[in-house]
Amino acid sequence: MIAEVIVNSSAQELNRIFNYKVPEGYVIGNNIDIGYRVLVSFANYKKLEIGYIVGFKEISEYKCKNISKVCDRAFDEKKLEVAKWMARRYFCNLSDILRLLVPPGTSNNIDKIKVKYERWIRLTTKYKEYIQGHVEEVKNFKIKSEKQQKVIDFLVDNIEIPVAIIIDVLGVTPAVLKSLENKEICESFQMEVLRNPFLNKIIKRTKKLELTEKQQEVLESIKINEHDEYLLYGVTGSGKTEIYLQLIEKVLESGRNAIVLVPEISLTPQITDRFLARFGQIIAILHSKLSQGERFDEWRRIQNGEARIVIGARSALFAPIKNIGTVIIDEEHDSSYKSETTPKYDARDVAKEICKRENASLILGSATPDIKSYFRALNGEIKLLKLENRISTFGMPEVKIVDLRQELASGNKSMFSKLLYDEIKKNLENKEQTILFLNRRGYSTFIMCRDCGYVVKCDKCDVAMTYHLTVNKLLCHYCGAEKQNVSICPSCGSQNIRYFGTGTQKIETQINKIFPEASVIRMDIDTTTTKNAHETILNKFRNEKIDILLGTQMITKGHDFSNVTLVGVLAADSSINVGDYRASERTFQLLTQVCGRSGRGDKKGRAIIQTYLPDEFSIQTAKSQDYIKFYNNEIKVREKLNYPPFCDIMVAVIIRGRWTKSCPRCKGIFWHF
Ligand code: ADP
Ligand code: ZN
Ligand code: ZN
Repeated sequence: MIAEVIVNSSAQELNRIFNYKVPEGYVIGNNIDIGYRVLVSFANYKKLEIGYIVGFKEISEYKCKNISKVCDRAFDEKKLEVAKWMARRYFCNLSDILRLLVPPGTSNNIDKIKVKYERWIRLTTKYKEYIQGHVEEVKNFKIKSEKQQKVIDFLVDNIEIPVAIIIDVLGVTPAVLKSLENKEICESFQMEVLRNPFLNKIIKRTKKLELTEKQQEVLESIKINEHDEYLLYGVTGSGKTEIYLQLIEKVLESGRNAIVLVPEISLTPQITDRFLARFGQIIAILHSKLSQGERFDEWRRIQNGEARIVIGARSALFAPIKNIGTVIIDEEHDSSYKSETTPKYDARDVAKEICKRENASLILGSATPDIKSYFRALNGEIKLLKLENRISTFGMPEVKIVDLRQELASGNKSMFSKLLYDEIKKNLENKEQTILFLNRRGYSTFIMCRDCGYVVKCDKCDVAMTYHLTVNKLLCHYCGAEKQNVSICPSCGSQNIRYFGTGTQKIETQINKIFPEASVIRMDIDTTTTKNAHETILNKFRNEKIDILLGTQMITKGHDFSNVTLVGVLAADSSINVGDYRASERTFQLLTQVCGRSGRGDKKGRAIIQTYLPDEFSIQTAKSQDYIKFYNNEIKVREKLNYPPFCDIMVAVIIRGRWTKSCPRCKGIFWHF
């Protein structure tokens, strides 16, 4: 029998099937199958290579070697089908996808991550029979020391316990245990321990809530034993998560399992906590902030069926979970569902392929759906489910817009408008908390007139042009058009031209100056490099009642602080002018989400959006938190300019190479993208 093997290599030339003989003693369906990892000798390399079995056949058309070693099984036929679909759709090597399907940390070295063991101790069967009077006394069962007796008394009710703990609890020495082992009274054994990411979490279990009529209607329209795709559009706080929880409960009852994707899960421990509280230890979580050992063990808990719900970032789709009944993608509009590294893919599309094959339902949930998803829902491709009101009677926060141009005209050049300053002061006096958000996703700089809000845009593509310091020019990242840099506003003639891209650190310094009495905590890329930094910062903000949380994108998602009654957006414009056709969509989503952090407790919330473009549609609709209105306008713009969903475009062509300033052939100046 011949196995068809894909070699674990990113080299394009090796992206094909190689034949290897199945060794003696291996039977398909028994100890070898599709999805097994193997070690094979390849070409004349000394080291054995990892390969994946993707098929079998009777004979090989050429002479081939034996498989050197059969290892673990990483995937089944269904997963392989999805992998092949992905390789075709995203133009990548099959092995690039298969690598996602193996236990974390083992893709290049199968034995790298080890199962962790601990020494445990218990009474021997023989000794137990002796104390029950079933066997005669054996001479070495005589106990001489009090300490030995203490250990036996402790273990007598069939207790099995880690050696380290018994030493600690009873205050005995290892020698005491050793002598009991020598007498065959006790025996020690290896026990597998799982590195558990929730080890130190104490979470009170919750029962399911009585659903509102609307929620009930939504839950009932989701069929659980057939494939279908749903878009659940529900405003922030409308009870979407409760629906996910109850849907999963139904799926589990029918004997099937679930996957839940949440964006940037490491930033939002609250969501995991809610699932843990409802379902307990049948949950596994997977994200990049766990240690490799923890991820490996979570993977094994899923593989052996102990964990039936997987919660994670996009890669959780590839967890070895069987018999999937539903896949839920929360905040489906989030950009983290697209992988920008090889293999590049959109988790929503992959989830759909998985659900089709598993006969499972796919739920996309959001308060600000992707324009494309909503468009598909209106066209009937996806079933649309709606929750239009908050559960809480307090309603949405009151949002005000501040025109920074007027602020400047009245002589205020700081980052804080008069209104925002006053409101922060008020919050400091009332001991209520404030979140300040700096919208700074694009790394590139754009140029704006501080007097009239004019931004240099590409004439053809209508996106903001990006300033490139090295060539001192403005470039369009879509069509490559270039313009001279401006120092005088082409629209109003002002010389107040500003380069955008202010950092959080600078603002923190300003806050310390303007509000010396306030405590401030900052959350951005720089302060969150260590493992539990996010959780630590957020807990500190909550528990120590820090006055102001200042941060970038990462503070906008899913957090629920009941004492936050003011959200300030320092400059809303930075995401409008990022040189991307989705800029307004992103801005609307971001502002709606961040304003939604305010007033979640028993006090009414306020939000202030500072902007140079107060009339911008995305900002106006975010003020009223009106997604439908935003959608209706945006879809018209997309249609006019022939942007998605009316076409497919490749947003970026990235060409990488060693950095040189000019072309070695013609001496022309290079752009960098
Ligand atoms: P979303 O996921 O849409 O933001 P959540 O599910 O988090 O909404 O619900 C918002 C709040 O309302 C939560 O505190 C939740 O516990 C509560 N909630 C949700 N559904 C109900 C219900 N049927 N009855 C009472 N409270 C509910
Ligand atoms: Zn252009
Ligand atoms: Zn101007």
